[in-house]
Amino acid sequence: MTNILIIGAGIAGLAVARELQSHGFSVTVLEAKNRIGGRIYTNKNFGFPVDLGASWIHGINQNPITQLAQDFKVRIQYTDFENIPFYSSNGELIEVKELENARLLYKQILRQAKALGKNLKQDVSVGEAIQRILLEKEFSPLQKTLMKCFFTGREVQEGTDLDSYSLWEWDEYEIFAGGNYLIPNGYEEIIQGLAKGVDICLQQKVIEIKYDDKSVSVKTDSEIFAGNAVVITLPLGVLKSASVTFSPPLPESKLKAINRLDMGVLNKVVLKFPKVFWSQNHDVISYASQVENDFSDFLNLKRYIEVPVLVALTGGRFARSLEILSEEEVGERVIKVLRRMYGNTIPDPEVVIRTKWAADPFACGSYLTMPVGAKASDRTTLAAPVENRLFFAGEATSQQYPSTVHGAYLSGLREAKRIIEEFAV
Ligand SMILES: Cc1cc2nc3c(=O)[nH]c(=O)nc-3n(C[C@H](O)[C@H](O)[C@H](O)COP(=O)(O)OP(=O)(O)OC[C@H]3O[C@@H](n4cnc5c(N)ncnc54)[C@H](O)[C@@H]3O)c2cc1C
Repeated sequence: MTNILIIGAGIAGLAVARELQSHGFSVTVLEAKNRIGGRIYTNKNFGFPVDLGASWIHGINQNPITQLAQDFKVRIQYTDFENIPFYSSNGELIEVKELENARLLYKQILRQAKALGKNLKQDVSVGEAIQRILLEKEFSPLQKTLMKCFFTGREVQEGTDLDSYSLWEWDEYEIFAGGNYLIPNGYEEIIQGLAKGVDICLQQKVIEIKYDDKSVSVKTDSEIFAGNAVVITLPLGVLKSASVTFSPPLPESKLKAINRLDMGVLNKVVLKFPKVFWSQNHDVISYASQVENDFSDFLNLKRYIEVPVLVALTGGRFARSLEILSEEEVGERVIKVLRRMYGNTIPDPEVVIRTKWAADPFACGSYLTMPVGAKASDRTTLAAPVENRLFFAGEATSQQYPSTVHGAYLSGLREAKRIIEEFAV
C-alpha cells in the first residue's frame, strides 16, 4: 500500500489525509504541537469557546467549509460587518451620515490607488499609492480620523500595514459571496469532523526531510518516518525560518518564492467581563482613534455565545509590537481604549487572553501577505511538487484563496488529487 506522510495537522493536512485515506492510501500525519488544527484553535480553558485563530467562513456561497459545516452539523452565525458603530475618543458615537460619507471617500481612494498601479512601471506599496492620491485631496479632521480607522481595519484584515502591501497584488484574490459567518461553538468543530479516523502523531516536530526519486524519510525530534511521498503543509513562516532542513535542498526557484512572499500578523485580545456594558445590537464595534497604532475593532462575542466577551482584533506592526508586552500590559491598553469609549465606570475584565502568532514557532505569523516584489506566480512555485516526492499544500500555496481556511482546505484537496493521479496503480 502506498504510504504518504503528511506534515502538519492543520486544515490543509487533514484535508489531504482524509481524501487520500478514502482512496485507499495509508497516511500518517506528523504534528509538532500537542493539538491538531494549527491556525484553527478554539480555546475553552475559561468555560466559553473562543477562536484564537480563524473565526469566520469568509463567503458561505460555494465555500467548501460551508459544506463541511453542514456535513458535521456545525452551527454557523452571520456577522454583520456593514452595520458598525464608531466611537470617537471622547466616547461619542459618530453620526451614521458622517460614517457613510467617509466610507465612500475611503472606497474611492482605494479604487484610485488600484487604478494608479496600472500606469506604473514598477510596483509600489498600497500605502505609497494612497499617499499620492491623498496629496490631491482635502479632508475635514473627522474624515481624516475615520479614514485612518478604515485603513487600520483593512490592515487588521490583511495582517499587514498598507505601506508593506504590493499595489499590483492588492485585491487580486478571489472571494466567495454570501457574507461572513462565525462558528459560535468554535472552528475546532470542523477540525474534529475532518480528523475522525485519521492516524495523527502529535508532538512530532519535523526537523529534516530527506528525499530521492524513490522514497522520503522524515526525521522528527524523536523518530524517523519513511514513506513513498510527503505532503508538506508547513506554514510559509516556518519554511522561511528554515527550521526544517531539506536534503537535497529545495530548488532555487522555490527558495526565492519563499523569500519574496511574507507572513502577515493578526492578533487577538479576548476580554471576558462580569457584565455587558457595550451595545448589544452590533456584531462589531469600532473605535476611531486619534493616534497611530491603537485598538480599533472589537468583535462582540456576546451575540454568539451569551457570555460577556469582547475580542479586540489587531494587525500588522501594531499586532507584532503587542507580542513583546505582557498579557497584563496588553489587557490594560485595551481597557484604556474601552474606558475612552464607555467611560471610567466599566468593570475590569475577569479574563484576558491574547495571541502571539508571530512568536509561535509552528506558525511564524497568521497568514500569507503579498509584499512589494511578491507575485501571484510565487504561490504556484511554492505549490509545485519536487521530484514527485515532495508535495506542498497550505494556505500560502493557494492561487485563488490564500490566507484563508477554505484556501488551505482546497490546497489539501489539490495535492491529494495530484498524488492519487501520480501513484494510482
Ligand atoms: C488569528 C488568525 C485569524 C484568522 N482568521 C481567519 C478567518 O476568520 N477566516 C479564514 O478563512 N482564515 C483565517 N485565518 C487564516 C487560517 O487560519 C489559515 O489560513 C489556515 O488555518 C491555515 O491552515 P494550514 O493547514 O495551511 O496551516 P496550519 O493550520 O498552520 O497547519 C500547519 C500545521 O503544521 C504544524 N507544524 C509547523 N511546524 C511543524 C514542524 N516542524 N513539524 C510538524 N508540524 C509542524 C503546525 O503546528 C500546524 O498544525 C486566520 C489566522 C489567524 C492566525
